[in-house]
Amino acid sequence: MLKLYHTYKRKLVPFKPIEKGKVRMYTCGPTVYDYVTIGNLRGDMFYDILRRTLEYLGFEVTQVMNITDVGHLTLTDLQKEAMKDRDIEITDTDDGLDRMEKAAKREGVSVWDVAQKYIDATFGKNYTKVKQYELDGDFGKMNFEKAEFIPRATEMIDEQIELIKRLEAKGYTYKTKQAVYFDISKFPKYEELVGQSFDEMRKGERADVSDKDRKHPADFRLWQLDQPEHEMQWDSPWGKGFPGWHIECSAMSAKLLEIPFDIHTGGEDHIKVHHPSEMAQTESAYDKPMANYWLHNAFLTVEGKRIGKSLGNAYLLSDIIKKGFDPLDLRYFFLQAHYRTKQSFSWENFKKARIGLGKIIDKVKEYSKSGKGEILEDYKKKFVESIEDDLNTPKALAVFWDLIHSDEDKGNKLATILDFDKVLGLRLDTIKSVKISEAKKEEIEKLIQEREKARKEKSWDKADEIRERLEREFNVEVEDKDGGTSWRVK
Ligand code: AMP
Ligand code: ZN
Repeated sequence: MLKLYHTYKRKLVPFKPIEKGKVRMYTCGPTVYDYVTIGNLRGDMFYDILRRTLEYLGFEVTQVMNITDVGHLTLTDLQKEAMKDRDIEITDTDDGLDRMEKAAKREGVSVWDVAQKYIDATFGKNYTKVKQYELDGDFGKMNFEKAEFIPRATEMIDEQIELIKRLEAKGYTYKTKQAVYFDISKFPKYEELVGQSFDEMRKGERADVSDKDRKHPADFRLWQLDQPEHEMQWDSPWGKGFPGWHIECSAMSAKLLEIPFDIHTGGEDHIKVHHPSEMAQTESAYDKPMANYWLHNAFLTVEGKRIGKSLGNAYLLSDIIKKGFDPLDLRYFFLQAHYRTKQSFSWENFKKARIGLGKIIDKVKEYSKSGKGEILEDYKKKFVESIEDDLNTPKALAVFWDLIHSDEDKGNKLATILDFDKVLGLRLDTIKSVKISEAKKEEIEKLIQEREKARKEKSWDKADEIRERLEREFNVEVEDKDGGTSWRVK
């Protein structure tokens, strides 16, 4: 029986879908104002493992992941207060620009161009047309499964306006010169979700809030008004403006999943503001709970410190690749920690993960020679128990390694490992082939040249890294002779 940790119930609960055999889930996706960091990718890895686990257990999954391309504003004082002791970077300032607009200024292009650039980089250029993410985007490189629906906030402005109208008609909103607000006093459950009374929240309010007409610090903006410098604007019953950040998730999930749906996921930074706000909107509009299970992933740190652009440790997937690692090394690294525990990245422990994955790949190559056998049911049972225990991937990896170290028949080991890989997603089924295509040859030659250059510059570490990579990824052995370097497939 699958058990998941429900953040707001603060305990593990057995998972029971609304409709037998089916799961409808919603994942708060990225704000596309920059490349995703390895921290963001840890969060995405969490939804991917959840999805793969559900599918492995036989559920049919329908997932929505939104793309925030408008309205993600600077943090409110309440948010800052809620997050001040956490390892989360707060990059926002109070200059009134949203993240997308800031990026547009930074890059000297339009907001729409910023969105397109980072959507392409994250999801891949063709993501709306393909069934799986392609390798030209970070999600494809990480072998993440694609959600069924990936709507952009700007594609659903009408739905957001309709939802705000509905809330207005039911008396949940009020309007100031600056915005239409959700009146949080009308949703008392908010106190319990946030773990603070409305009075306590008031104490945390700073004196310099920009809207003096806002009634309570936790009242949040549904529709932004009076920001003529903002590039993205739409007409609405309240005036020209743009949606607040939380409203898109409520509007999209209602349209694409139906309320209530089964599982809502996101990073732990959403526990105290974004998700309670989504619930306030949806429950008030539809008089039904939004979702039955709320799950959150813990953050990734780098050498124990929060990840931050200003700290120079906001590594991107491209940084990892530049250093000669494979994106799947990062996948394997993430699998080593449970999604609800903090994980700390360092180049040292990341290298160890790569060695671990390298060993697995060698074993799969070795087993492949025996041909595929039967799935070993007792190992499978233990593996299932591990992932059913709130997606315990470290435990699942331990079962995986027990199997590798066992005396079982190699063909059976292979069949079982490839079955487990449906959840782990390490692309172990693609390893066998040693035939080399022309495209691969080009890649290999390029790496050989890079290595030659590194050797000339006496960058021995880099040269070694490239040699290791050639071996691991292409099964290629290099030999250095006086006249240069030769290579062959092992
Ligand atoms: P942001 O770009 O800050 O809007 O973050 C986008 C998503 O990535 C959010 O859902 C966060 O929960 C998640 N996220 C950001 N930083 C980290 C981190 N260091 N570890 C895990 N998840 C993160
Ligand atoms: Zn959301």
